[in-house]
Amino acid sequence: MKESKTLSETISTRPPYEGEAIRLGVSQCLLGEKVRYDGGHSKNNFVSSTLEPWVEFVPVCPEVESGMPIPRPTIRLVNLEDNIHLVSPSTNEDFTESMNTYSKERVAQLKNNELDGFILKRSSPSCGMARVKIYREGKVYKRDGVGLFANNLMNLWPNLPVEEEGRLNDLRLRENFISRIFNRNRWRILIKNGIDRGALVRFHTAHKLLLLSHNEAKYRKLGNIVGSLGTAPDKTIFSEYEKEFHAAFKSIPTTKKHINVILHALGHLKTHLNPKEKKEIITAIEDFRSGFLPLLVPLNLIAYNMRIHNIDYLLNQIYFSPHPKELMLRNHA
Ligand code: SF4
Repeated sequence: MKESKTLSETISTRPPYEGEAIRLGVSQCLLGEKVRYDGGHSKNNFVSSTLEPWVEFVPVCPEVESGMPIPRPTIRLVNLEDNIHLVSPSTNEDFTESMNTYSKERVAQLKNNELDGFILKRSSPSCGMARVKIYREGKVYKRDGVGLFANNLMNLWPNLPVEEEGRLNDLRLRENFISRIFNRNRWRILIKNGIDRGALVRFHTAHKLLLLSHNEAKYRKLGNIVGSLGTAPDKTIFSEYEKEFHAAFKSIPTTKKHINVILHALGHLKTHLNPKEKKEIITAIEDFRSGFLPLLVPLNLIAYNMRIHNIDYLLNQIYFSPHPKELMLRNHA
């Protein structure tokens, strides 16, 4: 009889995904550092306290790093002859070119040192990733601007998971973002440890249920890429897989997708469960569907049974533990 392992043992000891800190870029003021124009900060507790034990922060303040003092006059996005500029309304100084030049160099540097994600400060003309105010002739003209640093970051590094701190208050967006940074980290470790065909197949297999919970079409596309190993240079296939893998997680899991995945997992347990045990799990799934129970409950019932019955296929699925349980990202109904 095989010895039963806990899921966390299985995942933490499973090569080659272990042992590399999550490197998270962050707008520096969110960490409580006094770099804002008024000499203050914008400390965000989820970022600076909850995430802190799990990540290595790479703080970035584009305004200070590009040469602006603390304190400094406010700056804003301004529409000038249909072009967006970064301007100080009190001095009329135009920082567009200096901020763009700085941002391109800084993003290149960050790419060289690798990151798993970036959390940006909302509403900032430098860091805001969406809905930043744009002014024209002294008045708010639109609210669909993107901060200049954020714009360069997202354009030059499209696969990097990027979120704003405000959007992380939405629990689904929060879980999705954290899941993405851990997924990216596992991919980075795979590359660092020396990817080969076998490692790619194992990686893809281990992420099957997680991928299905995000984007089934992408899961199938990735399966085709893995299936084409040997028909093109490995390097080309690995790079194509990487692009599609990260893109898959831009889709946010829905209740329906989670239920499909849980039912799929339940199928692997059916010969091991008696009718009463099965009914218990189905009831938890239905309560999750109705919003009475969090995802964690049916998942824990499946995870308990896969450990008891030592179902290797399920034990190896990242889906059951894509991020640390201490972050409690699946505990909400
Ligand atoms: Fe610096 Fe960005 Fe924070 Fe502004 S929002 S203080 S530029 S880190």
